[in-house]
Amino acid sequence: MDLHHDPSCPFCLIEEGKAPAFLIHNDARTMSFLDIRPFAEGHTLVIPRIHIELFSDLDHDTLASLFIAASEVARLLKRRLGVDGINVLVNEGKVAGQVVPHVHIHLIPRKPGNEPIFTERVQAEESTLEDLRQKITVG
Ligand SMILES: [Zn+2]
Repeated sequence: MDLHHDPSCPFCLIEEGKAPAFLIHNDARTMSFLDIRPFAEGHTLVIPRIHIELFSDLDHDTLASLFIAASEVARLLKRRLGVDGINVLVNEGKVAGQVVPHVHIHLIPRKPGNEPIFTERVQAEESTLEDLRQKITVG
């Protein structure tokens, strides 16, 4: 498989073996390693081996293999760390909190008593939801 890399990308350096990582799972298309600035113990990142910046740009084969690996690693975290639940999260773009411009799925182990990640949510007006639905789907 031809692996496209970006020489300035820290995740590509890990993929090429040029930077260290605490690897926990590998397959032909993906790598999974511990986040070095974890939100919770066992916080893991799952990346495609090819350099693609955004989730919305992934081809279907890469997308499928990424989520299959994420599911396998989630099972590992639950079984080996006694984790009760996991937030599965992708930040799409800088404004959404994406720090490394190489697609990655966050697996964030959660335990009873943890604050939920989504707080401060407010019920939307139906008219606002309808306007948005039309903007997204019509035309
Ligand atoms: Zn990269």
